[in-house]
Amino acid sequence: MSANITHWVDGAGFAGTSELWADVTNPATGKVSGRVALASERDAQFVIAAAARAQEAWGDTSLARRTQVLFAFRELLNARKGELAAIITAEHGKVLSDAMGEIARGLEVVEFACGINHLLKGGHTENASTGVDVHSKRAPLGVVGVISPFNFPAMVPMWFFPVAVAAGNAVVLKPSEKDPSASIWLAQLWKEAGLPDGVFNVLQGDKVAVDALLTSPDVQAISFVGSTPIASYVYETASRHGKRVQALGGAKNHMVVLPDADLDLAADAAVSAGYGSAGERCMAISVLVAVESIADDLVARVAERTRTLLIGDGGRESTAGHDREADMGPIVTRASRDRIAGLIASGETSGAKLVIDGRQVQARGGADGFWLGPTLFDNVKPDMEIYTEEIFGPVLSVVRVASYAEAVELINDNAYGNGTAIFTNDGGAARRFEKDVNVGMIGVNVPVPVPVAYYSFGGWKRSLFGDTHAHGTEGVHFFTRGKVVTTRWIDPANRPSGGLQLGFPQND
Ligand code: NAD
Repeated sequence: MSANITHWVDGAGFAGTSELWADVTNPATGKVSGRVALASERDAQFVIAAAARAQEAWGDTSLARRTQVLFAFRELLNARKGELAAIITAEHGKVLSDAMGEIARGLEVVEFACGINHLLKGGHTENASTGVDVHSKRAPLGVVGVISPFNFPAMVPMWFFPVAVAAGNAVVLKPSEKDPSASIWLAQLWKEAGLPDGVFNVLQGDKVAVDALLTSPDVQAISFVGSTPIASYVYETASRHGKRVQALGGAKNHMVVLPDADLDLAADAAVSAGYGSAGERCMAISVLVAVESIADDLVARVAERTRTLLIGDGGRESTAGHDREADMGPIVTRASRDRIAGLIASGETSGAKLVIDGRQVQARGGADGFWLGPTLFDNVKPDMEIYTEEIFGPVLSVVRVASYAEAVELINDNAYGNGTAIFTNDGGAARRFEKDVNVGMIGVNVPVPVPVAYYSFGGWKRSLFGDTHAHGTEGVHFFTRGKVVTTRWIDPANRPSGGLQLGFPQND
């Protein structure tokens, strides 16, 4: 029996009025597991209006009370994260340990938001001018929209909503229609944690729901994560409608291996970061940049490790009777699997050397699952489609370069600038790399350099539209507006002279 996955508004499920639904599938079996409501414009307005009503009281709620709710949410999430991981695996396909990892990184942001009081403190200056004091404060925005991609149905929303809620806003989350159930589970958890109804809402749907959020005068800000064309559209549309926007886009992350690197460490890292979550991570390594002198050796080590990977159903049932969990699950949908397989064919045709062909995979899972094994290309050139396209699948492309300088040029010529990594034992080279690359997140002997929650996450170039990164202090600034108050109290000992002063006020 398949489940109906609805919207969530005012603390309860809401089926909406559109009567439009989309199938949700389990990628490991290829079977439909549920159907998700697709909001109409009217449904969206209904949800936004509920959020606007709830925000007024929530924005006035004391910081002590708000953070108590955050702490309760953190405790519940930590205690019950196994349930959420199973939901993620069943709709996304990633293996359970990876789903738990995603939740752990989201929990970090909840923990960061538990301490928001410290970051909402303003400044105070006494006697800025004679008898005049100045202080600053930060106010919530109102209703904010969070629009998230399929690949992290829990973590990406949690990059934003803990901070937004802690800062006194109401949230309307529009999750991906491919794996929408995690959002409803999180909404129920907020209710159990004591968050007033209407402060956290879920609007299910597609472009109709997104457009309603981007254009509604009652939505003050949009946090979007997804592919670059949609990020660009979201940024332009929401900005045109007067909103604050941060729109995180796609990626093509390069990992450079210099000749002095520990090649075993580099090969382990390339395989883990290239094929983890079937390459469906915005911080996945998709291009391995090998300096020619060590390229043969590195490719051999990567290939050897890749051949040991176990592909299968990431859910609990797959571990029963087996000695270990699968390393990599299926691709999220049949259409994505077929698109990636098409790109592998294009790489072959364009002359790249296909070292391992994932289309031949033997997977431990349902016959109709969306399987595709890890794929390794060598001798990839920057004009090939497999280099220029964001594949977003388990395909690792080796580009050979003559020198460090050529590696940096390749990275800086790329349209994206999300993450990159260098593997070396030369501190000077690593230090230069940090400065030389036009990329937002950099790893030194760390292949997936996702910043911890108290720093901010975001790329450069076509990986981010807007200027504010997610979470950390930038997240707090994004979800609040500053006010500066200049005060003069009449003090009998220091009475202003009075009288009319039509000139521009000057300090004295
Ligand atoms: P997507 O762009 O297809 O969808 C993202 C969101 O936009 C979803 O909620 C979807 O419903 C909505 N959407 C899709 N088409 C739309 C349209 N025409 N108009 C309005 N809204 C629309 O992305 P995806 O396939 O779900 O996710 C994968 C992409 O996300 C990859 O490109 C990946 O690199 C990127 N991503 C980036 C980051 C980052 O931090 N930069 C993180 C995760 C994922």
